[in-house]
Amino acid sequence: MAACRAQASCSKEAWLEAAHTFIQETLCPAGQEPNIQLTKLVIDCVKTTWLSQGNTGSIQLLLSFSFVSVQNLRTHQQLPCCSHLSPSSSAHEDAGRNWKSLHREHLLLLGTLTDLPGDLETKCRDGSLYVRDNTGVLGCELIDLDLSWLGHLFLFPSWSYFPPAKWNSSGRGHLELWDTPVPVFPLAITPGPLTPIPVLYPEMASCLLRHRSKFKIVKPNLAGKLVRLSALVRSEKTAYFVLSLGETSPATSQTVSQVSIIVQIPAQLVWHHVLRPDKAYVLTGLRISKIRGHSYYIWTTSPSSHLMLLKPESVQTVELERPFLEAELNPCPMPSKSPDKKEHKGLVRKSKLLHYVGTVTGVLNEAAGLYELDGQLVLCLAYQQFHGLQRVIRPGVHLELKDVHLLQSVGGGTTRPVLAPCFRGAVLLRGFSHQKLGFQTSLQVFGSSLYAHLVWENQLGLPLYLWTTKAVEELAFKLCPFTLRYHQFLKHSPGNPSLGLQLLAPTLALAQPSTCVRNAHSEILEEPHDCPLQEYARLKTPCSFPTLATLKEEGQLRAWASFDPKALVPLLNAAYLPSFELNRCLAWSWLCLLPCTFDPAQVLLGVLEASSRKGCLQLRDQSGSLPCLLLAKRSQPVTDPQLIGCLVRAERFQLIIERHVTSNFPSWKELDMAGFIQNRQARVYIQLFLADALILPVPRPTLHSATLTAPPQTESPHPEGPHIRQSRLFLLSHKEALMMRNSYVPQGTSSEIPQPTLSFHVSGTWLTGTQREEGNQWGPPEALRDENKDQKILLIFLGSSVYWFEFLHPGQVYRLVAPSAFTTAFEAEGSSCVSQHPLELAGCVSCLTVQDEWTLELESSRNTLLPQSSLTQLLSDNFINILVSFSAEILSRTVCESPLACRRKCGNTKAMRRCVKLTVALQIADCEFPPYLDIYIEDPHLPPPLGLLPGAQVYFSQLEKRVSRSNNVYCCFRSSTYVQVLGFPSETTISAPLPHIYLAELLRGGQTPFQASASCHVVCIISLQLLWVCAHCTSICPQGKCSRQGHACPTQASVSQASLRLLVEDGTAEAMVTCKNHHVAAALRLGPSEWTSLLESVREPGSVALQFRELGAQLESSASIQEPLTLFLWTLCTSPSVLRSIVLSFELEKKSSNITPLESSRLQQFHCGELQLLTRVNPRLRLVCLSIEEPEYPSSLGAFASS
Ligand SMILES: [Zn+2]
Ligand SMILES: [Zn+2]
Repeated sequence: MAACRAQASCSKEAWLEAAHTFIQETLCPAGQEPNIQLTKLVIDCVKTTWLSQGNTGSIQLLLSFSFVSVQNLRTHQQLPCCSHLSPSSSAHEDAGRNWKSLHREHLLLLGTLTDLPGDLETKCRDGSLYVRDNTGVLGCELIDLDLSWLGHLFLFPSWSYFPPAKWNSSGRGHLELWDTPVPVFPLAITPGPLTPIPVLYPEMASCLLRHRSKFKIVKPNLAGKLVRLSALVRSEKTAYFVLSLGETSPATSQTVSQVSIIVQIPAQLVWHHVLRPDKAYVLTGLRISKIRGHSYYIWTTSPSSHLMLLKPESVQTVELERPFLEAELNPCPMPSKSPDKKEHKGLVRKSKLLHYVGTVTGVLNEAAGLYELDGQLVLCLAYQQFHGLQRVIRPGVHLELKDVHLLQSVGGGTTRPVLAPCFRGAVLLRGFSHQKLGFQTSLQVFGSSLYAHLVWENQLGLPLYLWTTKAVEELAFKLCPFTLRYHQFLKHSPGNPSLGLQLLAPTLALAQPSTCVRNAHSEILEEPHDCPLQEYARLKTPCSFPTLATLKEEGQLRAWASFDPKALVPLLNAAYLPSFELNRCLAWSWLCLLPCTFDPAQVLLGVLEASSRKGCLQLRDQSGSLPCLLLAKRSQPVTDPQLIGCLVRAERFQLIIERHVTSNFPSWKELDMAGFIQNRQARVYIQLFLADALILPVPRPTLHSATLTAPPQTESPHPEGPHIRQSRLFLLSHKEALMMRNSYVPQGTSSEIPQPTLSFHVSGTWLTGTQREEGNQWGPPEALRDENKDQKILLIFLGSSVYWFEFLHPGQVYRLVAPSAFTTAFEAEGSSCVSQHPLELAGCVSCLTVQDEWTLELESSRNTLLPQSSLTQLLSDNFINILVSFSAEILSRTVCESPLACRRKCGNTKAMRRCVKLTVALQIADCEFPPYLDIYIEDPHLPPPLGLLPGAQVYFSQLEKRVSRSNNVYCCFRSSTYVQVLGFPSETTISAPLPHIYLAELLRGGQTPFQASASCHVVCIISLQLLWVCAHCTSICPQGKCSRQGHACPTQASVSQASLRLLVEDGTAEAMVTCKNHHVAAALRLGPSEWTSLLESVREPGSVALQFRELGAQLESSASIQEPLTLFLWTLCTSPSVLRSIVLSFELEKKSSNITPLESSRLQQFHCGELQLLTRVNPRLRLVCLSIEEPEYPSSLGAFASS
């Protein structure tokens, strides 16, 4: 532009000279002599227009304007601009005061107005308008076109130019011609017809169409008011539009009949710009033709047809012959389909067809054709071919919408009513916007082909389309631009659907009812009207794609909202717990959220990556990352590192929140008070089966997260050397725990003191010698140096190579790939420092440290069974301090004291070593009642790996088996322990009732349930102890005062505790049952208030203990029976109300009963009156009470009922 403006020198002569040159070069018809006359006409036209635009006198100002050619605009004007011949404070700028107005240039534009895009190819006409000069052609838009203007040279007094938008594939800008163009040559006035034109009115024309075989009128002319105008439909082969002329009844001023005319002659398509609803027109030279592919006939224009305004004085009605008048003058039935083609469900609504005039006030999603109209409506242009309009529509554009559908409460997150035109109605431009184009995001640039696909290929209904456009934005926000580039995510081509569409496809397939393919002819012509916008059902939002950060935040919010200390402590037991036990109950808890618990359901989406810092798998999006525990499917770990970098989309997953709470609640009474929670933390992660997810590979170079989680670099350390890699296959036999280990640093390599490093080891066997890369294949393996030598290998992964941790599993064959071609990378023997590795010295196997730049590939999966220890190895005391392996289901997870820690000293709670106890049920084939086992996890194995949750199935390998002082078997984590989650906790937990058994069944050994219930009789009470202890240190509290010597306890709170041992028998065996706390009340059959007052009466002495001699129920107590409390308890414990029939739920006192061999049955003497009986009785069982219930039948009938 600078060059152009330079021409506009101050001097009038120079300006005129430049103008002359410009006019001759740009406007004078090519190949003609210089035309002085043309220059004069143009200059005169400019001057006249300048003065008529309100510029008073000063022609000097005009000299600041310079002429611009089409080519100059296209090549030099990079930004939108406008130019007006009128004074600067024009109405245009006032109107746009609140908007970012267009930059104003002083340019004079002249050109020929035409509907020909090229030079001579008339077939290219598609109804678009252009401005042409000798230098080129530019598309333009014009509000009020007069057909007589076409082909004439004009001065455009007011216009704006827009360079091509990024989405515009044509790469051409366009002009918006604001004011009426001024002709350079006077336009010839077309005289009216000399004789009145014979015309048919719509009613007649319709009948003529029906009776076309009887009456032939050659090329009749039709007259009437324009009542309908369809969109201009363009397809590859043809372009057309349909207009309808109507006849108004003078009495009611309503349209009584109408007739449709199709216009498909290319030269006539420009009429679409001229036709104005409610104006009356005459169309000449029509004929009747059949629509291809349809059975019906329609009026159509011929190449000789003309369009003119209807002037009553210049037409005359055609007089038809007599027989015609006798024919039925019923309105011609419109082409129609059978009306009952669709089932009308109750939820389906009908949209309203209406006319609307309004102003665009906002752009909601340009690529998707969504705009805001008058601040309160959504305008959706996607169901028309709106790309011509798209370049013009900006806030401020005034539109007239004919026959547009109004859809209300479409759902799916759209709250405003939506106006959407189909092919039946036209969108007419009524006023240009004086605003600049908004900034175009990449989403807009690359999204349009995807949106078009949704409407035209996927045939989405409007409610679903609107939701989908939002979902695409949501997805792009989640993934672009760092995780994925916009073009990768959105770019769409036939046969190669974009990632965005692939991610949405499962949802769309579910939500979308089948719709028929659109047919523009039917949509415009058929009655009743049928198009995708005609009927709709309110959409229930199918799902949402939250960012991982949102998901994590939401999970934490819910986890803490649902954190209820009272729910975590067994309610009935809470009152008896000293504070350290109470707080331990709260220390760990978890919550599992399923996608269906959110509304709308959440769909998980992220790029899978492995962390080279933590060794875990995680999903990543723009907002962050979330650790995840993946299984290929049930019992099958993820083994293929190629999954790294893939997009994972899952509708079924578990969002796990583990809550870690440090609290100091003094007693259960304060559980409501949040102030006793000192610290709380949540560990949030995802569990899912890849079989339930959609895995989409993403082209590699796009991964942008390299800085965060760099996969080991595959680049050669010798860039100048040949890029040959070498590899070696190995079979993995065991993997050890990922933990901080002291790594071996060869002497002299570093002056720093080595720090423990996160690392793990795997052991395996080399399957081949080293192979070198040959082309794209691996060459033959090298011969082994020593065939006989054991090929066992210990691979050490430390530093960033912990990246591979989650992919390495026993039983799989992997290929270790090193980029270097020179060294014998995989020969552990070759490196002296490695050969001295202590592990090697200890284990007699070769050690090899996996270098950071090495990579791993899965070669093949061998479905080997995981080694399992036998039941004997697990439970018998012949095998102590061995390593065991087994699969088990986790029953509970609690925070507890280390089993190896010394007995806790009074009040010494701080020194207690924290430890996680998992109680598991072993999964052993053909075992009806799986044995239970405790597994302890201590530092440095804390926090435990992901997924060790109640209900999960887990394979534990190489746990250390130990036996407690009370002969219970338990297991501990070691550094060699391998843990693999095989199954996630089930989503629906059904607590099965305990098996109801005879006590003698427990004597069989092995196949016994750990927990069960039995109907039995209380034979006698053996001991009873009631205590009040300090809630802090558990010392006895006589008179409610802590009896601990030395330090004073911080609180004076005391809690009561009760324990009771009773003997039960059910006729098959007898058992000693230990009851604690509230179970004691149940055993003694005391109601809550009786129990409370009994405990209160013990407060004074602090403790009461009674010991009974078994059969005689005589008191063996230090306390005197004379004391009223002791006497009461003795009476109670021997009363028939306590010695009664009960339903006892219990568990075995020991987790496994194999350790101490069962006592054999013994002989016992009984007295029955005079008789002495000697009988064999089974050994006594030891049980712990879980609950005591009264039998359903009255106890007096018990014997009768059971006999
Ligand atoms: Zn429609
Ligand atoms: Zn105390």
